[in-house]
Amino acid sequence: MARYTGPKCRLCRREGMKLFLKGTRCESEKCAIARRDYPPGNISLRRAKVSPYGERLREKQKVKRFYGVYERQFRSYYAEASRSKGNTGETLMCLFERRLDNVVCRMGWAASRAEARQLINHGHVDVNGRRVSIASYQINLNDELKVRGDAKSQKYVRTRLESTRGAQCPSWIASNTETLTGKVTALPTREDVSIPVNEQLIIELLSR
Ligand code: SF4
Repeated sequence: MARYTGPKCRLCRREGMKLFLKGTRCESEKCAIARRDYPPGNISLRRAKVSPYGERLREKQKVKRFYGVYERQFRSYYAEASRSKGNTGETLMCLFERRLDNVVCRMGWAASRAEARQLINHGHVDVNGRRVSIASYQINLNDELKVRGDAKSQKYVRTRLESTRGAQCPSWIASNTETLTGKVTALPTREDVSIPVNEQLIIELLSR
C-alpha cells in the first residue's frame, strides 16, 4: 500500500486525535485538532458505521502513521513480536518505541519523528560512539546516544531543544541537554507508549 502523501493534519482529523506529524506546530495553538477548525464529531465516525474490520484497520493505520513506518516494516515488527515470549501486542508497541527515530524525537532533539529520521539519516547521531544512520535502529539497555561533535549538528539540536521545551523526555532515558547526550537506563514498557491505541485489535487483524 502506498504511503499517504496528503496534508498531515487531515490524518489527525480522520483519526480524531493528535498524531504529532508536524513538529512544533503540533504543540502550538495552530494545531488543527486544538483549534477544532472542522465540524464537531469524529470525521470517520460521521461518515459511516465502522465495521469490526475497519476498526482494527484504523488502529493499525494510526500506529503506522504515528511512527512513520511502511506496511512491510510493520509486518516485520509483528513477525518479531510474534516470535518473542510474552504479550505480542505489548511487545509490538515496545519495538516501535525502541526505534532510534522515536527516541531522538522523545528526547527533544527533533520536533517530529520525520525530522528525527532526517537527523539520523544525515549522520548527526552517534550510538555507543559510532555513527548510526538507520532510523529504525533498535536501541538497547545502556546504549549511549550523542549528537555528533561538529558545530552544525550541535547548533541544530540545541535549536530544536529550545523549541521542543514542552516535550517530555521519557523516564527510561537519562538525557543531558548541556552535553547533548543520553543513556538508555531501562527498556520501554507498554506504559511508556504515548499513543492511545488498542494493540489487541491490531493483533486480531494481523493474526487472521
Ligand atoms: Fe496533527 Fe495538530 Fe500536528 Fe496537524 S498540527 S499534524 S493536526 S497534531
